[in-house]
Amino acid sequence: MKLVIYLIAAFLGLLGLVFVIGSRGQVFTLIIGIVLIIAAGAIVYLTRIQPKASSTTTIQQIDLSGDVSLEEIRCRSCNAPLSKDEIEVKAGAILVQCDHCGATYQFEEEPKW
Ligand SMILES: [Zn+2]
Repeated sequence: MKLVIYLIAAFLGLLGLVFVIGSRGQVFTLIIGIVLIIAAGAIVYLTRIQPKASSTTTIQQIDLSGDVSLEEIRCRSCNAPLSKDEIEVKAGAILVQCDHCGATYQFEEEPKW
């Protein structure tokens, strides 16, 4: 979806450039060209701003799906190894729901990864 927006912006920018180059002193064509280039720039600018709003969620997801060896994490109650599905990150806190004994608790200790 983002790629399509960039393609549209690139197309508008190129079209604007063609108008500017092809204007040959015609003010009206020159203005259209400049407006198109500005519009293309604005589209790219706005598209770049949007993903920053959800950056916090993305970072939290990376924390668990990255190079973390989840086999090292064991249930506090029954000592069973916990899988990725049993660990959830909510507002920076790590919540554990053990499938083996049904215990639900917040991971208080500093993770050793
Ligand atoms: Zn357990």
